[in-house]
Amino acid sequence: MIITKAKPFEEILPFVEGRKNIFIVGCNVCAAKMRTGGEPEVLELADRLEKAGHPIIGWALPTAACSVRSFDHLADKNEKIKDADCILVMGCGSGTSVVSSVTDVPVTGTNETMSLGGCLGLHPSEQLCIMCGECNIGDFSGICPNARCPKSQMNGPCGGSKNGKCEVSRENDCVWYLIERKMDSINLTPVLSDIQMPKNHRV
Ligand code: SF4
Ligand code: SF4
Repeated sequence: MIITKAKPFEEILPFVEGRKNIFIVGCNVCAAKMRTGGEPEVLELADRLEKAGHPIIGWALPTAACSVRSFDHLADKNEKIKDADCILVMGCGSGTSVVSSVTDVPVTGTNETMSLGGCLGLHPSEQLCIMCGECNIGDFSGICPNARCPKSQMNGPCGGSKNGKCEVSRENDCVWYLIERKMDSINLTPVLSDIQMPKNHRV
């Protein structure tokens, strides 16, 4: 089970600022057990957001956030997601990455992912999250360079990125190519000029 803890509410607010159609995706496996993403927590976050002036348009609770296979999978749970202009994922970093991979809108997680606790979700080989405990995946619209770049490059690609491919394995896309492509498509590329500070590895 992936161990998560909820981020402070105030850390979530900047992500939804200016958004009109906020949608929440919970996780009915690990996060539900940790009480960071089951139905009660989803409803509580929805209530807090509404009271803070950010009403949501809907929410969905897939079996596990990391088990989402397609956008239709989520739309089957609640078709309001089709109108979303941002998505909050109440799961682990891996679940947030998976949801991000099926949508073009900005995605962030509401939890810190702390440790493995037994298994690596349903995506053991894709290394979507390395459980750093200081999740800022929302700064990259749901694609984590800390986990998906072999060098954990947090401030842009290394010199080996070529034609969108990673120098470590030319079969793989450079994660910074994926990030820039998504951020570009939603006009958020300027956000990438923010300097990312080193992670606190003691966390
Ligand atoms: S920043 Fe990346 S590695 Fe850290 S918790 Fe978030 S998804 Fe996982
Ligand atoms: S090419 Fe891209 S993914 Fe590969 S190590 Fe360099 S920055 Fe990371």
